[in-house]
Amino acid sequence: MNITSFNPPRRILMGPGPSDISPQVLQAQSRPIVGHLDPLFVGMMDEIKFLLQYAFQTSNPHTFAVSAPGSAGMETCFVNLVEPEDKVIVCINGVFGQRMLENVERCGGEAVVVEDSWGEPVSISKVEKALEQHPDAKVLAFVHAETSTGVASDAQALCALAKQHHCLSIVDAVTSLGGIPLKVDEWGIDAIYSGSQKCLSCVPGLSPVSFSQAAIDKLTKRKTKVQSWFLDQSLVMGYWSGEQKRSYHHTAPVTALYALHEALLSLYNEGLEVSWQRHADFHQQLTQGLSELGLELMVDESCRLPQLNLVAVPEGVDEAALRARLLNDYNLEIGAGLGQFAGKAWRIGLMGYAARQENVTLCLAALNDVLK
Ligand code: PLP
Repeated sequence: MNITSFNPPRRILMGPGPSDISPQVLQAQSRPIVGHLDPLFVGMMDEIKFLLQYAFQTSNPHTFAVSAPGSAGMETCFVNLVEPEDKVIVCINGVFGQRMLENVERCGGEAVVVEDSWGEPVSISKVEKALEQHPDAKVLAFVHAETSTGVASDAQALCALAKQHHCLSIVDAVTSLGGIPLKVDEWGIDAIYSGSQKCLSCVPGLSPVSFSQAAIDKLTKRKTKVQSWFLDQSLVMGYWSGEQKRSYHHTAPVTALYALHEALLSLYNEGLEVSWQRHADFHQQLTQGLSELGLELMVDESCRLPQLNLVAVPEGVDEAALRARLLNDYNLEIGAGLGQFAGKAWRIGLMGYAARQENVTLCLAALNDVLK
């Protein structure tokens, strides 16, 4: 077999993630390797922690990045905070709520499912009812920004309900972090995870996570060992949150963490509010342009995510063929619909570095061309 170096073209990523990455973040990843316990690297990890606390708006000391993708961040929250027979209220309004349910079941938890239609936010009144009917529930879990549908749920109201009913909250912020308002301490979130590859515009494969004191207390008081050695936070804390000397837990993905440092620094320098507004502004511009092309958004304006737009495929259009043309002729990637939206919708992402003028202009021009 004649194999040569892999040299991909420069694609413009406007799907559900991974998103576009800035040249600075890509360059950061190619800097010289250092050991993962090198004092310089450990100092950089402290800065990542500070920058993540900023991004999450939290002072939680246990705030760090799992060395694996968003699904591992999800699993980190469940395996540490759900013990066998714990009752967990799981909200499902798309693919990722369903994945949360899988996690609860695999932890031996007893799931109480609150279901909403795909394309709708998690219903506050249904969750309130479930909490009233199950006063023994220990955890409430939901997805803040459902990437499969482009819907935002009211994380602040849901976490307030969890507190009122003495439940810990587990929040999926894979697509929300950096793209829409998210305030971990102010909203009383207990365990939250995100992904590096969405609105942070970093390389995929890292999952920022933060645990409140209540979450740490639950972990400390466990009667059983966490079933995953790698994700057991009582062990990981010695590496990421050690008060004294950092001790070896696993070999950190050194250069991917350089990239995360750079991506978080760029968010810090821009400012969270400015980033949220930038996503909202380009979403407005995209929406306007799509409507001029006769394309409709499928999610109600009241709960639309600016960073993930669910667009109805017009009658008679071969959606896969159109996406292939965008990729081949314009190097532009948009996403297909998932589940019940497969074949009926596209998902156009405006995440992080992709939420900028060049991308919106190109996307609208390319769509105009291929729809002719
Ligand atoms: N949760 C949400 C809302 C997501 O969008 C994704 C990925 O798209 C995940 C979890 C899983 O993340 P990963 O694919 O990085 O494992």
